[in-house]
Amino acid sequence: MEDLAGYKGSSLSFLKKAGASIGDVLEVETSWGVVSGTLVPRYLYGDGDHVVLKLRSGYNVGLDVSVLRSARVLAKGQKPSFSASSPPKPSKGLPRVLIIGTGGTIASRIDYRTGAVHPAVSSADLHSLVPELSGVARVQPEILFNVFSENMRPSHWTKIAQRVRKAIGEGFDGVVITHGTDTLGYTAAALSFALVGVPVPVILVAAQRSSDRPSSDGPINLIAGVSVAGTAGFAGVYVAMHLGESDDKVALHGGTRVRKNHTSRRDAFVSVGVPLAAVWGKSGAEYVSDGLPMRGGSSFAPKTRFEEKVVLMKFYPSMPAGLIKAARKIGAKALVIEGTGLGHVSKEIVRELELFVNGGGLACMTSQCIGGRVDLSVYDTGRDLLHAGVLPLEDMLSETALVKAMWVLGNSRSLGKAKEMMVANIVGETTSRSFPGTPL
Ligand code: GLU
Repeated sequence: MEDLAGYKGSSLSFLKKAGASIGDVLEVETSWGVVSGTLVPRYLYGDGDHVVLKLRSGYNVGLDVSVLRSARVLAKGQKPSFSASSPPKPSKGLPRVLIIGTGGTIASRIDYRTGAVHPAVSSADLHSLVPELSGVARVQPEILFNVFSENMRPSHWTKIAQRVRKAIGEGFDGVVITHGTDTLGYTAAALSFALVGVPVPVILVAAQRSSDRPSSDGPINLIAGVSVAGTAGFAGVYVAMHLGESDDKVALHGGTRVRKNHTSRRDAFVSVGVPLAAVWGKSGAEYVSDGLPMRGGSSFAPKTRFEEKVVLMKFYPSMPAGLIKAARKIGAKALVIEGTGLGHVSKEIVRELELFVNGGGLACMTSQCIGGRVDLSVYDTGRDLLHAGVLPLEDMLSETALVKAMWVLGNSRSLGKAKEMMVANIVGETTSRSFPGTPL
């Protein structure tokens, strides 16, 4: 039912009974008091147990149907509508950029009154959201899927990588992928491996703040992403996100060394242990790191398969050995353990890891320190781990290590080859020396 878009189950029945439609101002009686606000549509993947109201303060509140007693329509709202202005004629001389939508709040349009978020599908939508794009490139937007990024799986990474491969065949000068922020780093790592040697820039962009907020970082990230994709002289997979507190700079982070380090700040993304790949300002490149692969390289050999049966676990004092056993039981083919300090775990866990390796599994060690690197040669525990067959992964990020193990197992014929690939530096996932700047 279009009037109650996104509502289902008990929340739909409750709203139908009250005669409410999206955009109406409701007064709802709950077991703890009365709340009034505008009825907001639910996301496609929302549950059926909540009614969401936009309060006068602008905040949305989700009310569990189990606490709702009755609802009264105070005022009928107009149906949310959106009319996009038509984009200007694209200029022939501009580069062609494919924008692949995968979900998240970026490149979505918001109905200001109800707060409803709709994916921006057509180029008319995109143009009205970010009119500056038409002066930067001839963009072709396309929705591949629409998921919150916590629901991404390796099969989504494969689909994105295959679409990028096709786009290169179609002659696009670059590709932008819009994505939720939560697992952006994992997807960036996955595409870095799957698209090794990619001859154009592939730029992942996201937004920490939605487009109904004046502080939204979506437009600037998108403009920078499209500009890099279309015009940069370098190639490879990068994340383009707001830099610092200014409103005019975007950082480009290498796809295997990027991490979301803050839940809400616009500059939440950091390059860990390496300098930024580039910085983009209003009029283009302000800084480009040395040594980035050049656009147009000829060694593109995409390998887009991933093995899902890989487990990432963080060691903690008193971690039960049963957790490693459980990984074996669910058929895990590889295990990435995030150890303490230089890469340590308790004696019981060392024993369990040895059994995992003896059973034909691939066990790898990263550090929960984030800065610095794993060194298993310093203490006895480290040497025991080496003896047990655990592979130390230098300064590789744990999330990157998980994704790499999935990719390595999806694309190697033997365990020996998988081990060899796991410790080799393929797309800058490990560095030979630690960056002398801040550890983060
Ligand atoms: N959890 C959502 C996601 O990562 C948040 C929305 C966003 O970050 O764009 O998709």
